[in-house]
Amino acid sequence: MMLNISKLKREESLKDKCGVFGIYGKNEDVARISYFGLYSVQHRGQEGAGLAVSNGKEIKTIKGLGLVPSVFTEKDIASLKGFIAIGHTRYSTTGGNTKNNLQPVLMRYKNEEFTIAHNGNIINAGQLLKTLPPGTPLKSTTDTEVMGWIICNAKGKSWEEKIMNSMSKFEGAFSIVAMTKTKLIAFRDSYGFRPLVLGKLNGGFVISSETCALDTTGATYIRDIRPGEVVSIDRKGFHEIGMMKGERKAFCLFEYVYLARPDSILNNELVHQVRQRSGELLAYEAPVGADLVVAIPDSGTSAAIGYSKASGIPFGEILIKNRYIGRTFIQPEQRIRDIGVKIKFNPLRKIVKGKRIIIVDDSIVRGTTIKHIILLLRKSGAKEIHIRICSPPIKNPCYFGVDTPNKDHLIASSKTVDQIKKFINADSLAYLSLSALERASRQKKNTLCSACFSGKYPLPVDIQFTKNILEKSKSC
Ligand code: AMP
Repeated sequence: MMLNISKLKREESLKDKCGVFGIYGKNEDVARISYFGLYSVQHRGQEGAGLAVSNGKEIKTIKGLGLVPSVFTEKDIASLKGFIAIGHTRYSTTGGNTKNNLQPVLMRYKNEEFTIAHNGNIINAGQLLKTLPPGTPLKSTTDTEVMGWIICNAKGKSWEEKIMNSMSKFEGAFSIVAMTKTKLIAFRDSYGFRPLVLGKLNGGFVISSETCALDTTGATYIRDIRPGEVVSIDRKGFHEIGMMKGERKAFCLFEYVYLARPDSILNNELVHQVRQRSGELLAYEAPVGADLVVAIPDSGTSAAIGYSKASGIPFGEILIKNRYIGRTFIQPEQRIRDIGVKIKFNPLRKIVKGKRIIIVDDSIVRGTTIKHIILLLRKSGAKEIHIRICSPPIKNPCYFGVDTPNKDHLIASSKTVDQIKKFINADSLAYLSLSALERASRQKKNTLCSACFSGKYPLPVDIQFTKNILEKSKSC
C-alpha cells in the first residue's frame, strides 16, 4: 500500500528554529516547570507550543498555535499530572503553521507510546518517508514525525536501542527530547548543529535547548548533550546510552549571532559576551565617526555595547521597542512586514534630531527591518546613519534548522554591500568578517557551521531542496 502524500498538505514547513524542554522529576510538578521552561525558549519559536506529560501509565498532550501563555491555561497545566514531561515551541516559515505540525509528536506503536520534540531539520525526510511501512499513520508532514516512525520501526529491544539504530539514517540537524511512559530520552546529531543541555533539578533532570531554561526552572547545568550522543533518564537515574561518531562538528554560528538568548551559554561561551566581542571587532574592522552608537533592540544590544566600548562613541537608546509585538520576520507578506516594523519601533525624535548615528544590528536577511528603521530615523531628523552588522552577509539558505527564506529573498545573495547600502538608504554599511565572527565565538573554525555566510555546507545538500520536502516526495 502507498502512503498518500497528497493528504500531506502544502502548508507544511520543515524549517523549524524551535525550542525543546524535557524533565524527569518524581514529586515535581513537571507540567508547571515545563511551562516555565518553554517560556524561556519562547524566543526560539513563537508560532505554537506543546507539552506532553506521562504519569507512567499514559501520556497526555496539549498543543496549540500561539505563544506559550496563550496555549496553556492554568486548568491545562493543573490537569497534566505526571513525573516526566517534554515540550516544544515551534517556529516555522511562511504558511507552515498548522495545528497538525505542532509538537511533541506522539506515536502509538505496538501498544507503546513514544513522543518526540525536535529542534533542527533533517534533509532526507522525503527519502526516509518512502522507507516507512505501508499504512504508517502519519498525521503531519514534519520531518520530526518521519523520524519518530523510523525509530518506532527500527530494530532494538528498547527505545534507546531503536534510537541508536536509527541515528545514522537521519541526515541533518536534530536536537531531540523524547519520552516513553517511563523514560526521558535525549539525542543530538553528530554535527551538533543545535544546542542541547542537561541540568539537574532536585533529584531529577532537565534537558533543554538553552541554559537560560535551566536558570529559569532552578536547574543546575551539568553538561551539554554531546554531538552524536544518546542519553536516557528513568527511575534508576541518568544513563549514557551511546554515541554516534561523526565526520566533523558543525555547531551553528548563527546561534551566537541571533538565535540564542544572550544569557545562555553555548559551548562554554556566554552568548552576550560573544556578541559584545563581535561588536568590538566590528568597530576595529569598520570604524566611522559618529555621535551615538545605538542598537536595534534586543538582538543588536550586546554587539552595540561592544562597538561603543571599542570605538569610544557613547552608547544610547533611540528606538523604543514594543515588546508585545511578535517578530516581523515571520510575516509571510511583505506589506504586513512593512507595517510590522513601524508598530514595533518608535524613535525618540528629540534625541535623534541632528545626530550622526551608528546603528548596530545582528544581521540583515531581506533588508526589511533596517530599511524601515533608516526611514523612520531620517524622518526624525538624523544627520547621518551608519549601519554596522555584526555578522557577514547572509547569502545562503539554512537547511539545518534556521528559518531563512529562499536564496532569492536573501538580499545579500543578489546585491553587493554597496548596492544594499543604496537599497536601505544608509550613509555607510559594513558587515563583520567571517573570521572575526569565528574569533568572537572562541570556537575552532572547523567545529562550526557557517554555511549561511560561506555557502560551505558541512554535508552535501541538494540545492533543489525546498521547505516542503515531504510534499515534493511522491508516494511510497
Ligand atoms: P530582515 O528585516 O528580513 O532583514 O531581517 C533582519 C532582522 O531579523 C534582524 O534584525 C534580525 O535580528 C532578525 N532575524 C535574523 N534571522 C532571523 C530568523 N531566522 N528569524 C527571525 N528573525 C531573524
